[in-house]
Amino acid sequence: MAKHQFQTEVNQLLHLMIHSLYSHKEIFLRELVSNASDALDKLNMLVLTDENYKNIDFVPRIDIALDKEANTITVSDTGVGMNDEDLVANLGTIAKSGTKAFLDSLSGDQQKDSQLIGQFGVGFYSSFMVADKVEVTTRKAGEEKAYKWVSTGDGEYDIEEAERDTQGTTIVLHLKEDEKEFLETYTIENIIKKYSNHIPFAIFMDKEHYVPAEKDDEGNETKPAGTEIKNEQINKASALWTISKSEIKDEEYKDFYKSISHDSGEPLAWMHNKAEGAIEYTTLFYIPSRAPMDLYRVDYQPGIKLYINRVFITDDEKELMPTYLRFLRGVIDSADLPLNVSREILQSNPVMSKIKNASVKKVLSELSKMRKKDAGKYADFYKEFGNVLKEGLYSDHGNREKILELLEFNTLNSEETTSIEEFVTKVDETKKEIYYITGKMSLQMLKNSPQLERFKAKGLDVLILNEEIDTIVFPMVTEYKEYKFVNVADAKFEESEEEKKADEEIAKEFDGLIKEIQDALGEKVSKVEVTKDLTDSPVCLKVDKDDPNYQMAQMMAQMGGGMGMDIPPVKPILQINPKHELLAKLKDSGDQNLINDAALVLLDQAKLFDGMELDDTPEFITRLNRIMVKAL
Ligand code: ADP
Repeated sequence: MAKHQFQTEVNQLLHLMIHSLYSHKEIFLRELVSNASDALDKLNMLVLTDENYKNIDFVPRIDIALDKEANTITVSDTGVGMNDEDLVANLGTIAKSGTKAFLDSLSGDQQKDSQLIGQFGVGFYSSFMVADKVEVTTRKAGEEKAYKWVSTGDGEYDIEEAERDTQGTTIVLHLKEDEKEFLETYTIENIIKKYSNHIPFAIFMDKEHYVPAEKDDEGNETKPAGTEIKNEQINKASALWTISKSEIKDEEYKDFYKSISHDSGEPLAWMHNKAEGAIEYTTLFYIPSRAPMDLYRVDYQPGIKLYINRVFITDDEKELMPTYLRFLRGVIDSADLPLNVSREILQSNPVMSKIKNASVKKVLSELSKMRKKDAGKYADFYKEFGNVLKEGLYSDHGNREKILELLEFNTLNSEETTSIEEFVTKVDETKKEIYYITGKMSLQMLKNSPQLERFKAKGLDVLILNEEIDTIVFPMVTEYKEYKFVNVADAKFEESEEEKKADEEIAKEFDGLIKEIQDALGEKVSKVEVTKDLTDSPVCLKVDKDDPNYQMAQMMAQMGGGMGMDIPPVKPILQINPKHELLAKLKDSGDQNLINDAALVLLDQAKLFDGMELDDTPEFITRLNRIMVKAL
C-alpha cells in the first residue's frame, strides 16, 4: 500500500467539502454520475475508433447500489477506468486552471463561498460532503491491473493493487452518520431523475416491489404477500439534445445543464437547434448565469462537447466555437462527420466549419432576439460576457456588424447605453461618421477628456469606450454599414476662410512660446502645436494617426519586453489651447524658468487626463510647487 499526500489545493477544497458549505449535498450523486457518463463516453469512442480496443466487451452502464447494513452507496460504471498514475493525477490533484485564484477568492462567508464553489465545479471531491471514507476501485480499459484508491479526506490517500473483473470504476461511499437518507431507494431515484435523467447512458438500481399474495381457486392463500427485488433502469438515458424541443420541460433543460457544465447555478438561457438539410446536426447551447472562473485565462476549459451521432468525441477542443463565445456550454452532435475524426482533421473539416459558422450565426441572432424580447436578461448576459463578445470584433471579421449590433454603448450625451443601430440614426447624414474615444479609465473621467471639448461645443454625440478591451479592438473597427468609425483625435470639421485666417494668425502669435515649450520638453514629445479644438483645457495629447494608442503601446512594450525586444516609446504630440488664459499669460511672461516648469507640468497634466502614469511624480510636484510660490 502506498501513501500519497493530496495537493495543497485538494486539501483546501476537501476542507470546504467536509465542512459542507453546500446546501444541496445531494449533488454529489450528480457529480459521480456525470464522471461515470464521461468515462463511458470516452470508452465508447475508443471502441468505435481505435483498433486496440476493438475486442473489449463493452456494455455501457452505470449501477447504483445501496447497502443499509454497511452504510454505503456504490456507484459503478463500465467506462474507461484509471490506472495508478491516472488515480494520482486525477484524484490527488486539481488539474483545473484557475484553481489557485479560485481558492484565493473565497471569503470565508459560507453562503457566498458555496455559490462560488458551484461555479467552480465541485466534481468528485463533493463525495466527502456525505461520506467520511471513499473507496475507488478501478481498472483501465486495455490494462490488466486494477487499483484501489482510499481516502478519509484528511490530507492523505492510499493506492493499492486490487481486483476488478472488467474495465471500469466502482466508487464506494461510506456515509457519515447523519447522511443516512441517501440509503433510501426513492431518495436516490428522485435525485437521479432530477439531475441525471438525460445523460446518454442507462443507470440501474435494485428496487423493491410489492408482490401480492397468491391464492388458489378457493381463495386460500398459497403464498403470502411479500416483496421482490428487481434491477431496473431508473433514468431515461435519452441524450436530451436528441429529444424534440416541444417535449422538453424547462426544468429538464436546467438539470441537463448542471450535469454537463459542473455549474450548480442555473443557466441564463439556452438555444436548442436542429438543422436539417445538406448537413444534419443538433446543437444545444447554454449561457451560464455567471462567468466561469477561468473565462479570462488562456488555459480556459472549453465548454462544448462534440458528439458524432451520439458518440462522444471530445470536450477539449477550443476550435469548436470561436474564442469570443467561449462562455457557451453545451453539445454539438452531427451524423455527418467521420467517427475517427482527429483534431487536425476536425479543424480543417469542411462539415465541421459549416456547423461552426452556422452555429455562430445562430447564437448571435438568438442573442439579438434576447436583447429585444427580454432586456433585463440581456443586461445580465452583457454584464458577464459583453467584454468577451467584443473580442469577436477583431477575431471574427465576417460577423463584425452583428457583434457591433449586440454591444451596449455609453455615449457622451446620454446617461443610458444605446445600440449602434440607434446611435447612427442621429449622426450627421452628410458625413456619416461615428465618433469615438477610447481610454481605460472611469466613464466620467473619459467623458471629461479635453479631446471631447470641441464635440461638446458642437453638440455632437460620441461613443465613450472606457474598457481596456475597447482600447484594443476599436482602433481596428473601421466601419458599421455605410458609417465610418472616426477617433475623436482624427475628426476634421470644415471651417470658413475667415475662421482659418484667424486661427493662422493666432498660431503665428504662439510661434515663440511653442518653440520655448518644445525646447523645455525636448525628446518627451514629437511636436508641440496650437489646436483650436479645446475650449476649457489648456492642453491635450494627441497620438499620431499611425501610432498605437497608449494602452496598445503599453501592451506592445510588455510583450516586446517579454521577448527581449526594446520597443521605443511612442512620443505624443502636445497640443496647446491659445484661447486659454494660462497659455495667453505664459506667452507674455518672458520668464524662462517659469516657462520651463509650466511646460513640464502641462505635459504631465495632459498625461494624467489620458489615464497615463507620470515618469517622475516627485519632479512634477516640485515644479508645481515652484509655480504656486510664484503666484503667491
Ligand atoms: P472533473 O470531472 O471536473 O474533471 P473531478 O474531480 O470530478 O473533476 O474528476 C477528476 C478526474 O478524475 C476526471 O476528469 C476523470 O479524469 C477522473 N475520473 C473521475 N471519475 C471517474 C470515473 N468514474 N471513471 C474514470 N475516470 C474518472
